[in-house]
Amino acid sequence: MKTRQDCLALDAADALAPLRQQFDLPEGVIYLDGNSLGARPKAALERARDVVAAEWGTDLIRSWNKAGWFDLPGRLGAKLAPLIGARADEVVVTDSTSVNLFKALTAALRLQSAETNRKVIVTERANFPTDVYIAQGIAAWLDRGYELRLVDSPDDLHAAIDTRTAVVMLTHVNYRTGYQHDMQAVTAHAHAQGALMLWDLAHSAGAVPVDLHAAQADLAVGCTYKYLNGGPGAPAFIWVPQRHQAQFAHPLSGWWGHATPFAMQPEFAPTQGIRRALCGTQPIVSLALVECGLDIFAQTDMAAIRAKSLALTDLFIELVETRCAAHPLTLVTPREHARRGSQVSIAHPHGYAVMQALIERGVIGDYREPHIMRFGFTPLYTRFVDVFDAVETLTDILDHARYDADAQRDAVT
Ligand SMILES: *Cc1c(COP(=O)(O)O)cnc(C)c1O
Repeated sequence: MKTRQDCLALDAADALAPLRQQFDLPEGVIYLDGNSLGARPKAALERARDVVAAEWGTDLIRSWNKAGWFDLPGRLGAKLAPLIGARADEVVVTDSTSVNLFKALTAALRLQSAETNRKVIVTERANFPTDVYIAQGIAAWLDRGYELRLVDSPDDLHAAIDTRTAVVMLTHVNYRTGYQHDMQAVTAHAHAQGALMLWDLAHSAGAVPVDLHAAQADLAVGCTYKYLNGGPGAPAFIWVPQRHQAQFAHPLSGWWGHATPFAMQPEFAPTQGIRRALCGTQPIVSLALVECGLDIFAQTDMAAIRAKSLALTDLFIELVETRCAAHPLTLVTPREHARRGSQVSIAHPHGYAVMQALIERGVIGDYREPHIMRFGFTPLYTRFVDVFDAVETLTDILDHARYDADAQRDAVT
């Protein structure tokens, strides 16, 4: 079993370790929740000051041109593209993941509309709820006979995708379990049945290597406030590959997707290229901060991040299983590297209470129903010694039952 000294040695030899300096992390906190809200890049404070004081305050409306506000969704999309195997002109950072899912899903259904008997959207019951809710909303409101087919396990996906399937919409890495789909194999199966493949990369972008082109995926969306460290509620992203851009259309046909927005024409005419995925005016202050997170990723690559992520999650699993062996813990996240994201989920009958006790002692993870303690590992700023110290605290809490089994749930957990 690894000692604290071993972990310090791993940190000393870690090529990614210096990047931690670029984040502002509070003293005395081990932050294992970057999968829910990434830590703040130091540069974000200066950038926020600049956008608010200089670009907005001094230059006022001239900043739409002068500071490049109008082009910001595409400029950030181009910076994000290499992290997901996309081309620079195929991604925009805009809107929320939920809204982008609505656009991508309706666009996929429309791409299939020539084939009138393809009405089924296939997804997982265990998908992140908003993904399922958006699909339910489309089926309920668009009144075109669309149906939702919810699959209970990744093993059932194969049989659930058939010649009535219009689109398969899956989250690549499951938020609760950390299970990672085989993007290439699932996409190939969807295509073999004539279905389109839409991936949600909320827990993948910046967390695991993704190659959308190698997988020949059709559409993708994802989040920037998790592993990409864009800031609370930062706009999400949407990917439309060049081969689908000319046919890509969705019902949120706002003026930012118009060919000539300032011609103020009464008829909608879509612009060319990825800007078709835009709807309306963007929250520029929040959008601008996304760049600070992306600029840190530009200093390394996803292969290095993945290697460290697996080393961190392996270490965490090994330490928990040896040191907490006497306690009723169940590993929920797959052991197999290829099926694991960058988190470790562990169930305990008092999972919520134990997580509250951890948070009170500065080890911040989070809780998901049922009974799951979720620990996110972010190689840009998580150290091996943090893993050791977090397990030390967990062991102490469990060995001495130092948690309040009646702890009440907060509004946000
Ligand atoms: C985090 C997450 C979202 C969040 O959607 P918002 O619109 O930003 O609230 C959606 N889908 C998945 C799979 C997520 O993990």
